[in-house]
Amino acid sequence: MKAWILRSFRKGIITSKFPGGRNENASPWSTPPVYRKGDQDPYCPVGAISQGKADANRCISCGLCYPNYEPSMDIHGSVSSVSVPALKKSIRIYQIDVGSCGACNLEIGALANPQYDMARLGISFTNTPRHADALLVSGVLTDNMREPLMRAYEAMAEPRVVFAVGACAISGSLLGKAVSDTLRIDVTVPGCPPDPFTIMDAVQKARGVK
Ligand code: SF4
Repeated sequence: MKAWILRSFRKGIITSKFPGGRNENASPWSTPPVYRKGDQDPYCPVGAISQGKADANRCISCGLCYPNYEPSMDIHGSVSSVSVPALKKSIRIYQIDVGSCGACNLEIGALANPQYDMARLGISFTNTPRHADALLVSGVLTDNMREPLMRAYEAMAEPRVVFAVGACAISGSLLGKAVSDTLRIDVTVPGCPPDPFTIMDAVQKARGVK
């Protein structure tokens, strides 16, 4: 116990200052690539590059386009078509994996750890869609998960916000179908996987917090 307390004092506060300050710990692989040099578009396995621009909604961060393209370190890549002020004080999230490799789930799980500490922003997880304000969907939409996804969505009360987290959920990526094939998406969170900062930024946008 004593050692645990001493270690805490030695380490100090490790929680990030998000949304204030620079998020210097953002993961380079999860930020959209931007054009740096080269005179033609390099090969991209998912066809994310076209006419000098990389589409973050498709990019799987494979790095094959480096050094023509490099991570932008921009964590504000999410796009929200909603702003729900009713969720400003608190938002409860139900997460559903419809066919991911697990990487997005790890980043979503990290939101609760001391470094990101989403609870300080009024964000928390719930394990039932009936208590949820937001549905966080990760992974390529697989046939067997189509019905569970719709059942979770229909169990939620209004207002409800649907997030597509990661390139697979947004575009189907290399493997298959986008979640938008079945469900209207309110917020897209690009990245492969998206960094927890990017996910928190997306949640704050949907709440109209900034
Ligand atoms: S990192 Fe890979 S998937 Fe992303 S734009 Fe470059 S080549 Fe395409």
